[in-house]
Amino acid sequence: MRAEPQPAPYSPDPQILELADWLAVPVRAADFPMHELRFRNRRWDRAIGLGELSDEQWIAHFGRFEPLPDNLPQPLAQRYHGHQFRVYNPEIGDGRGFTFAQMRDANGRLLDLGTKGSGLTPFSRTADGRLTLKGAVREILATEMLEALGTYTSKTFSVIETGEELERGDEPSPTRSAVLVRLSHSHIRIGTFQRLAVLEEDEHMRALVDYCLANYPGSPPPEDAPGRDEPAAQLMHQAAERLGDLAASYMVAGFVHGVLNSDNMNITGESFDYGPWRWLPLWDPAFTAAYFDHGGLYAFGRQPEAIHWNLAQLAIALRRISEPEPLLAAYNRFGECYTAAMARRFCWRLGLTGGDRDDAIRLIEAAERAMREGRLGPDAFFFAHRGGRGTEGELADALAPFEPIVDEHPYWSDAAPQTILIDEVEANWAAIAERDDWQPLHDKVTALRRMGDAMGEPPAPAGHSN
Ligand code: AMP
Ligand code: MG
Repeated sequence: MRAEPQPAPYSPDPQILELADWLAVPVRAADFPMHELRFRNRRWDRAIGLGELSDEQWIAHFGRFEPLPDNLPQPLAQRYHGHQFRVYNPEIGDGRGFTFAQMRDANGRLLDLGTKGSGLTPFSRTADGRLTLKGAVREILATEMLEALGTYTSKTFSVIETGEELERGDEPSPTRSAVLVRLSHSHIRIGTFQRLAVLEEDEHMRALVDYCLANYPGSPPPEDAPGRDEPAAQLMHQAAERLGDLAASYMVAGFVHGVLNSDNMNITGESFDYGPWRWLPLWDPAFTAAYFDHGGLYAFGRQPEAIHWNLAQLAIALRRISEPEPLLAAYNRFGECYTAAMARRFCWRLGLTGGDRDDAIRLIEAAERAMREGRLGPDAFFFAHRGGRGTEGELADALAPFEPIVDEHPYWSDAAPQTILIDEVEANWAAIAERDDWQPLHDKVTALRRMGDAMGEPPAPAGHSN
């Protein structure tokens, strides 16, 4: 069984104000014609002390963006650059979102409430600053499924429908609008560092590194790491551990993010920003989520490589304030961190303990072969073989060093596993689009949370000390 997020009193702590002069621009939310509350995250609102808000108060804060007490006086659109499909883009930044508030949870983690679709900012370029309601529904489904599968992910905190008609090339238009609030462990991206490097703002770079080390603490670099006392090296080691774990968690979840650009890489390693994502229907390294990803750069099997490439961009940015050796040493740990995380997360999803790293590697290889040969997707595979059940041949041999975790959750006796393949996403959306029927979506969220409950406590994210 999985414990609910621990309730906490509201504990505002807008640390970002320390950096705000150069990191961000104060902005205003759009004045929307309608505020219809569509999704309120009842698991996470109480974890940051906001469980007692009435729905009217909720809409005032997360639809009209009236400041929360003792928090940011005005929303802040963050400045950042980034590589998009390997092309450097200095024109981006929070073009349809902002940081709205920061607070601590029961473990002292510093969390942000950030928006998507809250209106125009100086970084909107020629776009409208809005989010489609379908985009919001997709983000709910992605975050709930990933959370259930143990991925360290942002949470969809609130979705309010806003009554505008939007034009989009990839949805029948006009299409409905929404404003989404996500609960996230920072919104500092690799692209935030890249911008400071390009603008040669070395003092700001040092201040940002110090801010991350202080507010997102992790473990120290290995004993033998060169320059292990230097802040930039420490951050790089944390990033290698966190991003190695992120890459592994996508592979174990069978998830294809779709847009692994460096502006979508959180320095905490938390997964976020869900656009054209897909879950794998069958185990296929070449499976690509985004229809505009013609070369398959962010295909399922290339995600670890894409994330490692982004880590290199962080090292290149930090090079302005550090010697190369300490950064390179951290960068080179990515593979080892990834492999360790794969072993840990794969065994967790299968409901196993024991075995060593080599046993886990052998098991993963046998499992991949079983999925390919049996034409199975990861959801079906992990469900069929929970705790090692139903195996024979090579797979049974590979399981021998492991012990099943004893769990008797009724989910494991269901006829079929939970999945969130594209047809079901579209069916959930169609009920809303055609009949304004939100029940299938709410039922799905309930079913995904039940699966998360059956999965048990997720693995702790790597590279964090709280
Ligand atoms: P994404 O692909 O969602 O990570 O977005 C990349 C960049 O485009 C970010 O700077 C976004 O803020 C911006 N962006 C995406 N959609 C919109 C929109 N509808 N209006 C304004 N900016 C947008
Ligand atoms: Mg983004």
